[in-house]
Amino acid sequence: MLGCPCHDCDGATSCVFTTKVQKHSEQVTYLLSSAQDAVTLIVGQTKARIVCHKILLAYYSGYFNGLLYGSFAESAQAEITLLDDDKDDMRAFVNWVYTGNIFTCHPVSGQTYGAQTKDMVDFKRIPERMWVFGDRLLAPSYSNDSMLAIMSKYRIMFLFPDAAAFVYENTVSESKLRSFIRVLIRSEGPLARSDSSPFRPSVSDWQKILSKNGELLSDCILYGLANKDVDNIPYGAGNRHLYFENDPSPPVADWFEAKGTQK
Ligand SMILES: [Zn+2]
Repeated sequence: MLGCPCHDCDGATSCVFTTKVQKHSEQVTYLLSSAQDAVTLIVGQTKARIVCHKILLAYYSGYFNGLLYGSFAESAQAEITLLDDDKDDMRAFVNWVYTGNIFTCHPVSGQTYGAQTKDMVDFKRIPERMWVFGDRLLAPSYSNDSMLAIMSKYRIMFLFPDAAAFVYENTVSESKLRSFIRVLIRSEGPLARSDSSPFRPSVSDWQKILSKNGELLSDCILYGLANKDVDNIPYGAGNRHLYFENDPSPPVADWFEAKGTQK
């Protein structure tokens, strides 16, 4: 039997992930019974069409809130075109908006989350992609849930160099995600684990990436690739709180009422 996908609870006592999903479903229920208008998102070069309730997009994303309920022309439109975004990134976000389940929402990784280590390797950078996409959509609760998935991933697998490079190329230095990866390298070098799993990055994989990414290289030189500092491991119980964004989302009823009086 598979345990909880958070890899941080015993599946019986209180779990941060389960509590979040419950709260999320209460929010969705409230919002869907308050407003039913839908919008079609036309996403990526293939112009994939993704339909979603406007009120949900607006509550969970500051970006969509501005687009749908701000003073711009899109407010009344039934379609929004977003050709520069990736359809899987958007599909994952919309699935999460409805379900609150960060572990199953991504169309590529969702089905295999919580499965075997072999499948986990295939995720590589997907939870990090989700964090970055949440940042772009001004959706801190999505980024925070993505951080839960990132922590869950690194409890059981190595940091791969392409995931590290993705983070260094798509975040600012002081972001929670960059801090997490930097401290992960510092406290548990990606070549530090002693098990002989075949699903681990090789030294040559790391060399290739480091030759192209100066900031990542300098952090690895400062902190090493095979060091171990158990007290500061960023997914450790005492440190996890350092890597979540402040989520300013108001209670859903207050938010909805305030929206009504703006009109
Ligand atoms: Zn759990």
